[in-house]
Amino acid sequence: MLWFLSSVRLALRAFCDMRSRKKIVILGANFAGIACARRLSKHHEVTVIDASACFEFLPNIHELLSGVKSAGVLRLPRKRLLESLGHTFVCETATAVDTQARCVHTASGRRLAFDACVVAVGGVNNTFGVRGAEQFALPFKTVDDCVAIAQRLRDRLNAGKKTAVVIIGAGLEGVEALGEILRGYRNHPGLSVHVVEGDERILPGRDPRLGDDIQQHCVDLPVTFHLGESVASLTKTRVKLVSGRSLPSDVTLWTAGAKPAPLLFSSGLALTANAWAAVTPALQSCVAPAVFVVGDAADLPDPLSKQAYHALDMGAHAAGNVQRFLDGAPLKPFKRGLELGLIALGDIDTYLTAGQRIFAGPSLAAAKELVFQANMARLDPPLGRSPAAALGQRYWRGLHRLALPALRPGALRNNLSGLRVIAG
Ligand SMILES: Cc1cc2nc3c(=O)[nH]c(=O)nc-3n(C[C@H](O)[C@H](O)[C@H](O)COP(=O)(O)OP(=O)(O)OC[C@H]3O[C@@H](n4cnc5c(N)ncnc54)[C@H](O)[C@@H]3O)c2cc1C
Repeated sequence: MLWFLSSVRLALRAFCDMRSRKKIVILGANFAGIACARRLSKHHEVTVIDASACFEFLPNIHELLSGVKSAGVLRLPRKRLLESLGHTFVCETATAVDTQARCVHTASGRRLAFDACVVAVGGVNNTFGVRGAEQFALPFKTVDDCVAIAQRLRDRLNAGKKTAVVIIGAGLEGVEALGEILRGYRNHPGLSVHVVEGDERILPGRDPRLGDDIQQHCVDLPVTFHLGESVASLTKTRVKLVSGRSLPSDVTLWTAGAKPAPLLFSSGLALTANAWAAVTPALQSCVAPAVFVVGDAADLPDPLSKQAYHALDMGAHAAGNVQRFLDGAPLKPFKRGLELGLIALGDIDTYLTAGQRIFAGPSLAAAKELVFQANMARLDPPLGRSPAAALGQRYWRGLHRLALPALRPGALRNNLSGLRVIAG
């Protein structure tokens, strides 16, 4: 009898706990969304929604173009990652956040109520209304996008066909795409690459010495830069420039930028269709206190560059503020981390930017690979093995795949001593 009563009491307590658990919905499960979910405890009822099944490590998707990485290496299954944390994963597109009724609507008609919501939907490809761009240019925003580009390049070049590639946009994505195409095919007699950039320099907004150095590497390669040129329209085989010039193109890559996901405006979190969601320094939406916006989707009063490392930090920080919001405690402002960047030009060179300083050297590719492997291991901690040993094994395998002669011990020593200072 005593045993029966205590079982009933335990069951009742579990039932009450379940009812009092606050509901948190996270929209978007890539860098910012996953980082947030990892910091939220099982004491909350956490539901994470994403339109696709796998996390994708976007900063390395350019490596698919040369084949040094395969799609599977850059992906992690979201269901397993989130369920191992005690959360629920819903693989669906969210259609709206109702900030008044505090619920999220999905494409299949589901309605998910929340006490607090974290919006981490990133951005979408921006073709700036250029005629023919949606139809004829290949986007460069996901693993599938890059797999499709790699396939097109391989099919043409391996069949010995002359191939003109036009890369539209010479920001970080465009430059890294160029590097991988050069890694894979620079000795192929049929390859020519044209890079079109509206700014007078490649890598606009960054130290000009960085862009100059990259252009210098390309002097004897089949690469032509068209700077200060905007694209007027595209056809299947041509890229027409506003200046009246026209470039033949067999493969056109669109790397010219991102715009806010439509959900931000349709949910009233952004003021216009072209605006990101304005947030307070604590990452709380300026229009809906129960909503936090993180990663690329957020527009802070002191704007941040749209980078994965900021998205990871913002996601983790928002988790703490969601907890404070639910407890009625004061929120803490987000503090930006150090701005460190590693930019690869295929196997030709890699650049490390740290504030005003820029260093270059092929051996820095090993640092870029370490950043990738360490982040993947952090997102998906190994089971039953020491994390350091597992990371070591992953890293070594990754370096091998990069197949850089520059990383053999002797060459590495020479390259490390040959590290160049571009600015500092
Ligand atoms: C080619 C490329 C190279 C890059 N290189 C670097 C680099 O070297 N270093 C660096 O730090 N950063 C780099 N970045 C930027 C970095 O990838 C982004 O800053 C980062 O991905 C932002 O993370 P996020 O979580 O905010 O958004 P995202 O990573 O874009 O994730 C948003 C998620 O939301 C989901 N989603 C969107 N809308 C909905 C919806 N309505 N319903 C359900 N789910 C939805 C998407 O499926 C996606 O999974 C690069 C980006 C690209 C594309």
